[in-house]
Amino acid sequence: MDYFPAFLDLNARSCLIVGGGPVALRKARLLGSAGARITVVAPEVCQDLLEFMSIKEHELIRRRYESSDVNGRWLIVSATGDVDIEQRVFQDASEAGVFCNGVDDIANCSYITPAIVDRSPIMVAISSGGVAPVLARKLRAQIELLLPTGISKLAALAGSWRERVRAQIGDLLGRRRFWEAVFDGPAANRAIAGDLGTAERMMTELLGNAPQDHTGEAWLVGAGPGDPGLLTIRALQAMQTADVILHDRLVSAEVLDLARRDADLISVGKTPGCRANSQQEINALLVQLVSAGKRVCRLKGGDPFIFGRGGEEAQALEAANLSYQVIPGITAAAGCAAYAGIPLTHRGVSQSVAFVTAHGKDSVDKLDWPSLARDKQTLAFYMGVKRFPDLMNNLTGNGRSVDTPIAIIENGTTPKQRVIRGTLGQLTLLAEAHRVKAPAMLIVGEVTALGQLFSSRSGALPQITQNYAKPDLRVTAKG
Ligand code: SAH
Repeated sequence: MDYFPAFLDLNARSCLIVGGGPVALRKARLLGSAGARITVVAPEVCQDLLEFMSIKEHELIRRRYESSDVNGRWLIVSATGDVDIEQRVFQDASEAGVFCNGVDDIANCSYITPAIVDRSPIMVAISSGGVAPVLARKLRAQIELLLPTGISKLAALAGSWRERVRAQIGDLLGRRRFWEAVFDGPAANRAIAGDLGTAERMMTELLGNAPQDHTGEAWLVGAGPGDPGLLTIRALQAMQTADVILHDRLVSAEVLDLARRDADLISVGKTPGCRANSQQEINALLVQLVSAGKRVCRLKGGDPFIFGRGGEEAQALEAANLSYQVIPGITAAAGCAAYAGIPLTHRGVSQSVAFVTAHGKDSVDKLDWPSLARDKQTLAFYMGVKRFPDLMNNLTGNGRSVDTPIAIIENGTTPKQRVIRGTLGQLTLLAEAHRVKAPAMLIVGEVTALGQLFSSRSGALPQITQNYAKPDLRVTAKG
């Protein structure tokens, strides 16, 4: 973080603007709207600024800047366009311990002003740390569209109810639940639309019905294979609402970054050097947290019900009579294949796809190999890196051709994605040569060669591509 974001209370506080032109006027208006008492120092002052400064709490000093002008200020803006003066103001301000902004002069700034979306009391401030102000303004325009102007009315209404809610609902968790019910429900829509009477009636009803003891809830959530862009809206909502997030090791840091800031994040996966929590321990923790009234987001890689043991967690919650919901996610096979430009099925090439786990020797031995080895089908193997020799031998031993195209996708959908293409007969050699590590998927079938059609990188097999194929629109267009 290059700059620390904060909102300043400048009401009735003395702020200095050095300069008397249109930029100074713009800054004066902004500071004035926050209630600041403004002093402008400038030998020449434009007409509009003169008018603005005629308000009695402001002070206009018509002379050149002097170092003592910085004394006793809370904030300083230097808008002269003259680098020498700006530098002097900045130095004087720094010595006096006052924050100073040289407009469009990042070298002479100890604070920068963000692009803002003002829906007071809701305020959104966007900063690019001074490096891409045009981008910040563009984002502001997008956020302007997202935030209805009526949000101000809703926030003001919430403000006027704060004390009443505090008096009625003693505990913090209960109050949070009440406000979430208001903001997620029809009362908020009514307030935003300006119908404050109906909104207040609905809120009164909610307040009367607020439960005194809080029941917890769990969401078994699929976080997708890595790219945070592949989260569903519901997954995001669960991550933003939960009190606790229990996450697998496979869930990427970029995804976890989207969690509610004050949610407790608990990793229950295996990390190098640490013991993994057993499934029983995870189930017990889940039940314990939900029983204690927490809203728990159980965040799992890919989809919770595809080799994710989500079913066992659902059973544990059910056995304890606790409420839960399942939020599906994009499973690794679907995500990785798409980002590698491979359609898992394709007319005339592959009519079915099987998701297969190849975790341990035992589970590999129990698979129905004669049926998996049949052609015209795609196989997506999960957790199989150590079992590649067994997979190769079982498939070829049961009749699948050694020339069947394959793709190994490591760290699919993330910036570290590697796609290694070859044939089934080359599988173990390829994995060794390229030192393939988990998490990796193996996709077997003719569709993996089609993937080359869909990606611009064609060439002789075997082939390795290291590129991170962000949502590949060409695939969608052709496929
Ligand atoms: N529930 C998950 C699968 C969990 S099993 C899902 O639906 O995707 C974990 C296995 O998934 C890994 O061993 C690997 O084979 C595969 N996997 C998960 N994320 C992956 C990724 N980003 N790239 C490649 N393989 C991945």
